[in-house]
Amino acid sequence: MRRLWVILAALLLLGLTSCSAVGLLRGTDTGGGNSAATTPASPTVALATPTLTATPSPQVTATPSITPTPIPSPTLTVEPSPTSSPEPTFTVRFHPDYALYAGDQVSWEVIAPAQTDLSGQTVTVWVDGQAENLFGPLEFSPFGIQGRTQATFTWAWDTSGLEPGPYILTYSVEPLGYEWEETLFLQLRSDLLAPEPYARWGVAESNCCLVYYITGTEAERDLDRLLDQADEVTQAVMEQMDTQLEEPVNITLLPRVLGHGGFAGDGISISYLDRNYAGSYFEMVLHHEMVHMLDSRLGGELRPTILVEGLAVYLSGGHFKPEELLPRAAALLWLPGDDSESGLGWYQELAPLVENFYPAQHEIGYLQAGALVDFMIRTWGWDAFVSFYRDIQPHPSGSQVQAMDAALQKHFQIGFDELEQMFLDELRRQPVTPEHIQDVRLTVAFYDSLRRYQQNLDPSAYFMTAWLLDSREMQERGIVADYVRRPMAPENILLEEMLVEAHRHLIRGAYSEAELALEDLQAKLDEVLLAANLAGETMLWSIPSQTSPDAMYDLLPER
Ligand SMILES: [Zn+2]
Repeated sequence: MRRLWVILAALLLLGLTSCSAVGLLRGTDTGGGNSAATTPASPTVALATPTLTATPSPQVTATPSITPTPIPSPTLTVEPSPTSSPEPTFTVRFHPDYALYAGDQVSWEVIAPAQTDLSGQTVTVWVDGQAENLFGPLEFSPFGIQGRTQATFTWAWDTSGLEPGPYILTYSVEPLGYEWEETLFLQLRSDLLAPEPYARWGVAESNCCLVYYITGTEAERDLDRLLDQADEVTQAVMEQMDTQLEEPVNITLLPRVLGHGGFAGDGISISYLDRNYAGSYFEMVLHHEMVHMLDSRLGGELRPTILVEGLAVYLSGGHFKPEELLPRAAALLWLPGDDSESGLGWYQELAPLVENFYPAQHEIGYLQAGALVDFMIRTWGWDAFVSFYRDIQPHPSGSQVQAMDAALQKHFQIGFDELEQMFLDELRRQPVTPEHIQDVRLTVAFYDSLRRYQQNLDPSAYFMTAWLLDSREMQERGIVADYVRRPMAPENILLEEMLVEAHRHLIRGAYSEAELALEDLQAKLDEVLLAANLAGETMLWSIPSQTSPDAMYDLLPER
């Protein structure tokens, strides 16, 4: 019996705090590939509760609101008081998170209402009408993976030497002529919570890497082991990819959860903390991100996103944990002609997934990506796959499907559609167990819940718009607060502990317990959001008693 959790029209107000149109459905990836494809997938599982979240596009509310932190912090008060037109509705987020203290380097994001064209518009922020505290004008520009439209004032306001107390910020958007004010409070710096008063950047060197950490955090406590693990993982990745590091890799250990626990850019950033509610493992995340680092250095004219991520998942042996990629991907299928409810019906057609990978349902996309790379390497071998992968040329249309199609023709004498057909045939030969299906289903539900929590109660952490900064510049400026400080309201701590517990059940295969824990978590999240008056009357969870595979499929975002 299937149940489906559907959130309808929920982001009307939530859109203020989570400007993402991305569906909230999430799952985890499966692990690296070793599947002996011999027996047909046996559809034997009665599904309990696929947790899907269909999310309508966020809408612009007519409310003249600046979005305060989701759970109003006792220390930071944002009081919107529009002085002119109430529309459109902009959202302002301050950093560091949770509370501001005199002495902070304060940043703010002025987030545009969804689907509003603000090209040519600029934002100016004026603090207390002081000439020296006039910031901007700054243009709106895309931010994060999502490309959210906002004006980002990074470390704009140096509050060193300022008195604690209220400050009035006046925002103006020109030439549109929107203006509004809000008041924020700077707290007494001596009230900072541990470990921040003594936290500083530190750096340690291992064979592979320069590891940046913040003193007084769990990373410093476990530094010796982390350095050894960094060397081991890097050595393994170099062997897998048959390459060498020519210069050390910078790794920044974050004392808070950002995204799903890891990012790669010029360097690698990895969350490392005891209450890691994303359930990520240092070695696993580092392996994934290190593949990205070496992969980008090896280059290629066009590396399609699905193959970039698929390669990282495949070489890591899974997405967030070691996993059997092909059988887990097969669990996504709704097996044709099979009337008994077997698979999940969550398989995403390859072409749209290739063209628009990141906005697609996260764990399903990564699982399919890893399984596809696994399948291709089994079929043609590592060397042939790499020759193909590094030889993909951009297509004039910009289509990654077309680019892959041409390279597939050249290297393997097949087209893109044929590749998908072969992949599907392979998936249908996989021995899918009830455990695979349960694990995929609850993994999706877990990460769905995680992102729902982040979007609403820890928005700086939401991966599509994470508050991820230039670690080197933070070190040079001596700024730790953006990473050390995070939402610490009792509700945050409770919900994060519930996530940790659900993940603990999931990871040991205790699916019934994991399911109950996730249900409790969702109920608590609903309760907290309603209490914070964020969800409003549009928050509506329904749990249909039965859902056809087609209906489930339709609920997938970004299909
Ligand atoms: Zn990745």
